[in-house]
Amino acid sequence: MRKQTKAVRTQTKKTHYREHSTPLFLTSSFSFESAEQGKALFEETEQGNLYSRFSNPTVQEFIDKVCILEDCEDGVATATGMAAVFASMAALLKSGDHILACRALFGSAHQIITQILSKWNITYTYLDATATAAEWEAAVQPNTRMIYLETPSNPGLDLVDLEMIGKICKQHNLIFNVDNCFASPALQNPVAYGADLVLHSATKFMDGQGRVLGGIVVGKKEYIKELRFFCRQTGPSMSPFNAWVLSKSLETLELRMEKHCSNALKLATALDNHPDVKQVKYPFLESHPQHALAKKQMRGGGAIVTIELDGGFERVSGFMKALEIATLSSNLGDTRTIVTNPYTTTHAKLKEEEKLALGITEGLIRISVGLEHVDDLIEDFTNAVEVSVKSDILE
Ligand SMILES: *Cc1c(COP(=O)(O)O)cnc(C)c1O
Repeated sequence: MRKQTKAVRTQTKKTHYREHSTPLFLTSSFSFESAEQGKALFEETEQGNLYSRFSNPTVQEFIDKVCILEDCEDGVATATGMAAVFASMAALLKSGDHILACRALFGSAHQIITQILSKWNITYTYLDATATAAEWEAAVQPNTRMIYLETPSNPGLDLVDLEMIGKICKQHNLIFNVDNCFASPALQNPVAYGADLVLHSATKFMDGQGRVLGGIVVGKKEYIKELRFFCRQTGPSMSPFNAWVLSKSLETLELRMEKHCSNALKLATALDNHPDVKQVKYPFLESHPQHALAKKQMRGGGAIVTIELDGGFERVSGFMKALEIATLSSNLGDTRTIVTNPYTTTHAKLKEEEKLALGITEGLIRISVGLEHVDDLIEDFTNAVEVSVKSDILE
């Protein structure tokens, strides 16, 4: 069977009720048939569920599906994407270690690396997404233990060459850890390029409908074993309810991503041709500076498009006011189109020079393209671009 079929058909073993859809094991603990069984389960001479902080069948079903989709051996599910990011670092790094990362990171990942890990004497070096292999090589120190990156990046949509980083990690014996949230496993599988760990904010495309929070790390057994110990003791466990929602959502992931990609490409193309839009960025537009790399490592361009408008915050405000369909929110990866101004919201806390280094200008708009009819989206965005130019001129 192909992995899409396996992922759709993987399900918790049928109970005596013969349910077709997957059951939800919303239980904090599991009972023992006897004192002997309790003893055996805790001694781990018998394998089984004890307590949902450690394991739960519904959560395991979600993990199994993601392992299939990402071609990984094992995984750990967490309450949020950030718990996955933190666990993937805290479980595997120790005081004195050094982490190399691409500078274009999700805001809270940046805070973990610069403000939290630094408390335990774990140091870091940032590189640009477009850094060459020689620049990455030169940044490796004797105590470097991990390379961490996101591709495509949020919100700059810069790509990092996974094959290049995979080779460097192999050569220097570093843990290669990738946040694959923006692409989702439907569009990109970092393990194919040597990633040891792949993590996701399941809150985004895996749920895809803006309902639940969740996170997951999948990868090599030896690393996941340490992550499982870390999560079992520190408790960032995924709720079985959220796992049930997410597991069902994975059955439509590929279908949703296909539509997200085709809507995003059409909207990006329409806005690229519009004279009142300063710049459009989308990995599968030929004008993207890393278009060839996008085509190599991604099966689709994803759902995120960025546009840049002239006229500062006033123009952004006028543009957002004029949108009739798209929602103003800081989330992404929903069936419903969302627009965000990273400069004033998600990335507001960065210093001016950090923003500019990441291409986050005042007029940048991040669009998470949803599953509405694409012609309605093109009309909504084109109208808002034009209305906001006019109000700009009047003032
Ligand atoms: C949202 C997001 C996260 C954090 O996930 P939460 O589920 O909100 O904790 C991490 N990385 C990326 C790329 C994200 O978009």
